[in-house]
Amino acid sequence: MALAHNLGFPRIGHDRELKKALESYWQGNIDESALQAVGKELRHKHWQIQQEAGIELLPVGDFAWYDHVLTHSLMFGVIPTRHQNKDKTVSLDTLFAMARGVAKSNCQCGSSHAQEMTKWFDTNYHYLVPEFTKDQVFTLSWNQLFDEVTEAKQLGFNIKPVIIGPLTYLWLGKEKEADFNKLALLERLLPLYGEILQQLSKQGVEWVQIDEPILGLDLPQEWKSAFERAYNILQREPTKKLIATYFSGIGDNIGLASSLPVDGLHVDLVRAPEQFPSILDRIPSYKVLSLGVVNGRNIWKADFEKCLSILQQADKRLGDRLWVAPSCSLLHTPVDLTREDQLDEELKSWLAFAVQKCKEIALLTKGINQPKDNAVVLALQESTQIQKNKATSTRIHNQSVQHRLAHIKPQDVRRTLAFAERIKLQHEKLKLPLFPTTTIGSFPQTSAIRSARSDFKAGRIDQKAYQQLMHQEINDVIDFQERIGLDVLVHGEPERNDMVEYFAEQLEGYLFTRFGWVQSYGSRCVKPAIIYGDIWRPKAMTVDWICYAQSKTKKAMKGMLTGPVTMLMWSFPREDISSELQAKQLALAIRDEVVDLEASGITVIQIDEAAFREGLPLRRERWKHYLDWAVNAFRLCSSGVRDDTQIHTHMCYSEFNDVISAIAAMDADVITIETSRSQMELLDAFRVFNYPNEIGPGVYDIHSPRVPSVDEIVSLLKKAAELIPIERLWVNPDCGLKTRAWPETEAALVNMVTAAKEMRKKK
Ligand code: GLN
Ligand code: ZN
Repeated sequence: MALAHNLGFPRIGHDRELKKALESYWQGNIDESALQAVGKELRHKHWQIQQEAGIELLPVGDFAWYDHVLTHSLMFGVIPTRHQNKDKTVSLDTLFAMARGVAKSNCQCGSSHAQEMTKWFDTNYHYLVPEFTKDQVFTLSWNQLFDEVTEAKQLGFNIKPVIIGPLTYLWLGKEKEADFNKLALLERLLPLYGEILQQLSKQGVEWVQIDEPILGLDLPQEWKSAFERAYNILQREPTKKLIATYFSGIGDNIGLASSLPVDGLHVDLVRAPEQFPSILDRIPSYKVLSLGVVNGRNIWKADFEKCLSILQQADKRLGDRLWVAPSCSLLHTPVDLTREDQLDEELKSWLAFAVQKCKEIALLTKGINQPKDNAVVLALQESTQIQKNKATSTRIHNQSVQHRLAHIKPQDVRRTLAFAERIKLQHEKLKLPLFPTTTIGSFPQTSAIRSARSDFKAGRIDQKAYQQLMHQEINDVIDFQERIGLDVLVHGEPERNDMVEYFAEQLEGYLFTRFGWVQSYGSRCVKPAIIYGDIWRPKAMTVDWICYAQSKTKKAMKGMLTGPVTMLMWSFPREDISSELQAKQLALAIRDEVVDLEASGITVIQIDEAAFREGLPLRRERWKHYLDWAVNAFRLCSSGVRDDTQIHTHMCYSEFNDVISAIAAMDADVITIETSRSQMELLDAFRVFNYPNEIGPGVYDIHSPRVPSVDEIVSLLKKAAELIPIERLWVNPDCGLKTRAWPETEAALVNMVTAAKEMRKKK
């Protein structure tokens, strides 16, 4: 008999109950016991839901107060000195202090900054980076996992604790001191895993899921060897162990992963279908093989026919050793589709959120165990019908989009003149000084702006009143920029709540949910838009706003757009066509906007690609393919203009060394990047590569309210000028200013302009 299990369930709650409780607790509106009660209720409810859906082995340990990596740091006692209590006790407040930092005012021990946060593999979930010291000690310091196991057992659930494996945990952390390799900590960490497994076994646990997603990465040899060492040692421990890999294929680690002395292996067949059926030949005959066939990263219903044919094949070889699962934890999907009361019925019938995915897993398992079961037969029929409908639906497939795609010509992805020639025309036309100053687009989003937008959305004010309010904001932002002497102006983006959603709402082929929240970090959730059909632009999206802004100034007003790769990466994509094709469709839609902006007299257009680097596949062998289509999509959206129109792009949080040639191939006339926190170090990649186009290295960090002094900015600019010829340098902040308040924005930009003027004088 095959078995249905789940790797993890979203913790946030179908109504974001956890978010709300956390925020009330942080504001002091509820006490810890009230918060604990919400957590307990959510866990209970989530186990219940999964069990009712037909999941036989329920995950425990997927709940976290902020982040599951952080929970592990607490469990292992990996607590930075700045967050340690004098009496060495660890509390929920320790956890929140590590996650959010402690300000001076409410802590006698002085202020302690939060741990660094970074993306969990290639998802939009962020984890808190463990901090390791050379003589790091590991001690069991936090009993949450054991308590939750007891809790689940008392409630009568059949459970499987989930922990992050020792190698992945170390891989995710950061050495906070020089001269040591975190891998050297493994020997010290392993005894804790021993203790944990023994404790779980005492609690009556049979199986433990140990997540080792780094088995899907290109691993250095020493890490591969460490895997063998670690699991040879852990082999002695009492519980059965299922190693879970996800987000990528195990590829050349297949030998390693399948031969580890554990009792089972989970593989992601959604991301890496090519692992099947070869994995069947590699898995030793004593091991369980868990097949992740239901996509844990997307919101589409599974294709039952396809899944069942894989599972049937596996069943023949594995029998009882076959487990059925989502590809990865369902943390990355919204909770429950039934809450969506305003979705079009047909579109809704194509979707599945976490709750529905659990049902799919159970049904697919039944499809193996009792293929004649009525529910199975019906589900299979329904699924086949849906796949059929989708294949031909005119709501998905748009002939004119496809016609356009089929007729893209080489010159469509190329500006007419080479950069060296175009830039002369642009300089002549724009007449900018050396070290031209600009900003990245958004200005502070005040509460007045937010309420105007929500009043308009809710119908409390009409289009005319809304437009007036926005125009007033734009006027103010332009007056300010002129007053302080910025060179290339922006309209401030007051009408945008989000750089992807704003465009997605105006494009055909996108769909929105009301409750499709997914945890991004801590209490923060995002509600990604869904690409369901061919993308096209029914009408201009930004032209009115930008033209209005341009009419208020003689200086150049930058048109502001979001690029195709970012639009795609921050949405739930289609599964029936490739990412490449979806990016091309988005590019064509944005290209139309670029061309319209130019035709309306806009001379500088910025196309943001904030997510360009994060789209890189986890495995290097796939980089080239990705970079080729991503660059091509950018070129397609930006090449429809005259040579004297200046195209900017912007990227943040980027490391450029390994993608610099792709960045150059994008051929934007100007790129603005985040560099201030790295003291211009990032810029060196551009120097080494001899990057030919213009660059605006961010001269101050917009993530902090701190106002940089003129001297500081001048010294950064001097550094930049040593790396890049000054004719090619721009002066700008690291990123958009929407999260900042006005006073610091004003002060910082005044200093920035002053610094640019000083640099000009020096020349
Ligand atoms: N133009 C956007 C802004 O200024 C860019 C945001 C981003 O790069 N994340 O807000
Ligand atoms: Zn940015």
